[in-house]
Amino acid sequence: MVDRNGWGRDASTSIGTTHTPPESFVEQANVSDPGVHDEFEANWPDCWERAAALLSWDEPYETVLADGDAPFYRWFADGRLNASYNCLDRHLESGRKNHAAIRWEGKQGERRTYTYRDLYVEVNEFAAALRDRGVEEDDVVTIYLPMIPELPIAMLACARIGAPHSVVFAGLSSDALATRMDAADSEYLVTCDGYYRRGDAFNQKSKADNARIALEQDVRTVVVDRLGDDLPHVLGDDEWDYHDLRDEFAGETVAPVSRDAEDMLFLMYTSGTTGEPKGVVHSTGGYLAHVAWTSHAVLDVKPADTYWCAADIGWITGHSYIVYGPLALGTTTVMYEGTPDYPDRDRLWEIVDRNAVDVFYTAPTAIRAFMKWGSDYPDDHDLSSLRLLGTVGEPISPRPWNWYREHIGGGDCPVVDTWWQTETGAVTISTLPGIDEMKPGSAGPPLPGIDARVVDEAGDDVAPGETGYLTIGRPWPGMARTLYDNDERFVAEYWQRFSEPASDDWRYFSGDTARVDEDGYITVLGRVDDVISVSGHRLGTVEIESAIADADGVAEAAVVGRSSETGETDIYAYVSTERGHDSGREIRRAIRDNVESAIGPIARPEAVIFTPELPKTRSGKIMRRLLEDVANGEELGDTSALRNPEIVGEIQAEIGDED
Ligand code: ATP
Ligand code: MG
Repeated sequence: MVDRNGWGRDASTSIGTTHTPPESFVEQANVSDPGVHDEFEANWPDCWERAAALLSWDEPYETVLADGDAPFYRWFADGRLNASYNCLDRHLESGRKNHAAIRWEGKQGERRTYTYRDLYVEVNEFAAALRDRGVEEDDVVTIYLPMIPELPIAMLACARIGAPHSVVFAGLSSDALATRMDAADSEYLVTCDGYYRRGDAFNQKSKADNARIALEQDVRTVVVDRLGDDLPHVLGDDEWDYHDLRDEFAGETVAPVSRDAEDMLFLMYTSGTTGEPKGVVHSTGGYLAHVAWTSHAVLDVKPADTYWCAADIGWITGHSYIVYGPLALGTTTVMYEGTPDYPDRDRLWEIVDRNAVDVFYTAPTAIRAFMKWGSDYPDDHDLSSLRLLGTVGEPISPRPWNWYREHIGGGDCPVVDTWWQTETGAVTISTLPGIDEMKPGSAGPPLPGIDARVVDEAGDDVAPGETGYLTIGRPWPGMARTLYDNDERFVAEYWQRFSEPASDDWRYFSGDTARVDEDGYITVLGRVDDVISVSGHRLGTVEIESAIADADGVAEAAVVGRSSETGETDIYAYVSTERGHDSGREIRRAIRDNVESAIGPIARPEAVIFTPELPKTRSGKIMRRLLEDVANGEELGDTSALRNPEIVGEIQAEIGDED
């Protein structure tokens, strides 16, 4: 492919170029033996003992995989362990008590460092408090906190006493909180008085109160004082100040409850990009083994590292790769409360620089924003401590991938594009950074031991280059065990479509479409619904968007189908541009030409609509559903799941002009 945008400074950065891991990286990589792929294949499922060996078990497991009740698989059956012990106690015992566990960077510029010992003390005190206030093993505790240290502390305190947590993203509404608490029959809530966003204080407690009013069950609540206002004033019956509880239980310790490997560690509602939230249930043993292993093998995390996953703990990425994975490995995990552009657009690079971050993991939506803002911001900082970069959450096209490697990674950091889902628990498709060649735009091969396959309607493997459904044919340790209280929906949602229960042949369906190349590299094209049918041709939105994003000056694009009066479907493209680029005729032409040469005239957008931003969910994913409604002039449904609802009106106005 030609480098038609001209931003690349040398040949190695041009689009379409593959990259081999640099020697200096390979030499120090946690996993650098290319034989690992074959080794896992030959020894499956026992290969997964390599993951389990990263944990400390109270009782050794007897069976690696019990598959008698598929698709309800059991991993490391009859083994016993405690997740908080694995993330805390054992690091104290191994002499790492004064090593930093969490480096917290607050929104207002505050900083706090918790050593493993500090974290151990606070988790124990809070575990003692929760237990005293009535929380028993297997009670679901809902946590509704922003990115403050008390969030992972509350999670680990729950894990310590064997109470599954259900973290609800702090930005969600009181209705969303109530729905989730109701669905999980949760009678305990940990929240805060409020928090800051761009300098303004938000009232979180009143949202929690509204949810409590809507619920039938009585709810006992712990409130963290984040704003420093007069907290006792807002406390009612069955409500306690977190800091008072800490005083009350100062110095107390709680023995970690030994949990069966299959006991629920937590449940997590998915972000809802595609509809009704699902309460995904994760296990203690298999989940923890899988996140520890992938933190080690994919993110190359070492105990001496300062590692930063810039996600929110309110989503699965934060559970697996801010909290459980890095802490299980005993590393230093950075936790950032704020946004990338406040107080300025170099905030993240200032944090990387000051903390000498080794490994940085973020999402394509953020990378596209960095690109839009321009390279001056990262250029102002010393980012040479970075050894590895990662991305997760959406497909990333080659241009932002290359931009990330070049401007954040200094041109020689490996980049891992990790495909996984709330339901897979941990990474399932990615290159191994010390082994595999990187192909920008493609997530990579399935991880060792993962049987990811792209299949057609009949469930047969598609030929290289053809589009199909992304499925996983064998179980894996981090997989969801069920949907909370809804085994039927679990089977219907993920297993029914491609499994043949009669012959005990089970295949997990991800809901995504993908393509595989001759080397077995998988390119994820988006969700099954993200397909536009033009004159009988099924075109993947992501592919068209990738071609658009190739045009010089384009930062981000989303395409949807619009039904025309004649019953045909037209393609509407929504585009935001990089700083310093106009939304003029030239760029429109470049966009259309790019699409035509990459896919064909059939995919040529009928309309190109410029917008400063695309509508995104709170976890940062483009909401195509909504853009489709806008294009079709339909009434918009609920926009409360949006992070930037105001943009929709602007886009509607813009479309009016275009017509
Ligand atoms: P819901 O299932 O409620 O609609 P969601 O799918 O957005 O929400 P997540 O589980 O956080 O919630 O996201 C998983 C999805 O994100 C994947 O199915 C895929 O569509 C997308 N995704 C994640 N990582 C990648 C990646 N590296 N490349 C391409 N797509 C990715
Ligand atoms: Mg999903």
